[in-house]
Amino acid sequence: MGRVRGRDTKPEIAVRRALRECGLGYRIQARDLPGSPDVVLRGRGIAIFVHGCFWHRHADCRLCTTPRSNVEFWSAKFERNVERDIRNVALLEAAGWRVVTIWECETRVPATLRESAEKVSDLARQGRRIRRRPRPRAS
Ligand code: ZN
Repeated sequence: MGRVRGRDTKPEIAVRRALRECGLGYRIQARDLPGSPDVVLRGRGIAIFVHGCFWHRHADCRLCTTPRSNVEFWSAKFERNVERDIRNVALLEAAGWRVVTIWECETRVPATLRESAEKVSDLARQGRRIRRRPRPRAS
């Protein structure tokens, strides 16, 4: 992937805690899905990305700084990241997933974080759209 991707980063841990507080069960790092969403509620068909504002270019965010040297390198890298994010969301949505993106900066403000978790909780209540593929029957 060519990018540093921490496991159990602080923002991810904060999101998981907020979901638990809303009584939501989840799995982490769904590697079988496009973009390996950080948190998934499989039964509800909800995939959550917890995005670092710098790497994923959160618009109008103070954490989304741009390095002053190697400008071409960074802009190419950022462009690839953003394109990949867009593609992954499209692939997931095409497969019936509801995708929620939670930004790093949002996880730092308790009230905002709680709002995000409640949004996921609302989605979860709205039922699921994913239809599981029927299991191949043993013959
Ligand atoms: Zn941000």
